[in-house]
Amino acid sequence: MEEFRKKGCRYCDSSLGKPFLELGSMALANSFVPKTEASAAEFECPLSLSRCENCGLIQLADVVPAEMMFTNYLYVSSTTATFRKHFAEYAKSVKDKSFRKENLVAVDIGSNDGLLVSCFVNEGMKGVGVEPAVNLSSDANKNGVPTINRYFDHETVLEIISKYGKADIITANNVFAHIDDSQAVCRNANDLLSDTGMFVIEFPYLVTMVEEMLFDMIYHEHLSYIALISLKFLMNRFKMEIFDVDYVSSHGGSLRVFIQKEGGPYKVSDTVEKMMKNELEKGYDKQEIYTAFAHKVNMTKDKLVAFVKEAKAAGKTISGYGAPAKGNTLINFCNFDDDQISYIVDDNPLKQNMLAPGSKIPVMPGSYLNEHPTDYVIIFAWNFAKEIIAKIQHLKEKNVKFIIPLPEPSVV
Ligand SMILES: [Zn+2]
Repeated sequence: MEEFRKKGCRYCDSSLGKPFLELGSMALANSFVPKTEASAAEFECPLSLSRCENCGLIQLADVVPAEMMFTNYLYVSSTTATFRKHFAEYAKSVKDKSFRKENLVAVDIGSNDGLLVSCFVNEGMKGVGVEPAVNLSSDANKNGVPTINRYFDHETVLEIISKYGKADIITANNVFAHIDDSQAVCRNANDLLSDTGMFVIEFPYLVTMVEEMLFDMIYHEHLSYIALISLKFLMNRFKMEIFDVDYVSSHGGSLRVFIQKEGGPYKVSDTVEKMMKNELEKGYDKQEIYTAFAHKVNMTKDKLVAFVKEAKAAGKTISGYGAPAKGNTLINFCNFDDDQISYIVDDNPLKQNMLAPGSKIPVMPGSYLNEHPTDYVIIFAWNFAKEIIAKIQHLKEKNVKFIIPLPEPSVV
């Protein structure tokens, strides 16, 4: 599997040392297996984290080519009322923050089905999406949301400038940490951005992952684990500057970072200085904190494995709620299979009646749990625990116990 081992750091090209955390070789967390292919061999790749000693970026040691990961992508951006509201507020807040107020051009990278772009348009901006997935970009265009079906590369930048002019706002939500060539993204964003423009990126925050032991957010598509100190290093290389940051609750805790060209019109906020100082004081620029994190991750695994082993020895049955990527990381790290966890229920119809990658645990619709209740339900989609528990509260009368697996297994 050495073929996917990354030699140089994604942000600064320095050579990378040995990984400090190894979760083992595992199947891609979003590659669900049809039941007819239950016995076929799955593609696997090591899931390990390395730290760059030069710029501090925490990153996957092995990188699977994007085209191998995104062909069977089951995640579809939800168009629920909650999502619409979230994106509508987001579009309004970036518009309010913008230095220029009239005739704004707003570009969303990795625009998915175009929800955010449509919110830009509703705010009176000229919105355009960039989306490499053919089906998603064609759906967006059919719905009247201007979308370019390409990767965010130099040609795309030239096309946008010639059609719309330079961008006042560029957004990239949960794509920045998933792109291998971060340096090209920065170069292209700088080329596309107007002198008074801002580049807004959102990604899960490394500090939250370490502090709250959210190691299940490590999976093959998630290439970079970002703190402000490493991001600042990257942006400075490309003559850009972080000027503001918001902490947002999505994905267990994310940062929304606002970036301008060097010499841009926005004042650097106190929050940026404060958060950067906090990272340095806690030692996120040094190896020790990551070594300690890796040690705790392995202990947490041991606890969860022991819990499941004891429950099985006592004749108990166990199921799972939610089959997100993070759940599959955790299950495969613990080497669980359908002997330990009988089945997982998930509300996404695209995952139902498939087998979870690696573990081959069957995925069933939510109603299956009512018909076949188990003694324990491990909530793998823990970020939705409140909603899930409310939904299956009635099972408590049947003595079903709910388990939150992290930061350590606990009965709720
Ligand atoms: Zn580096």
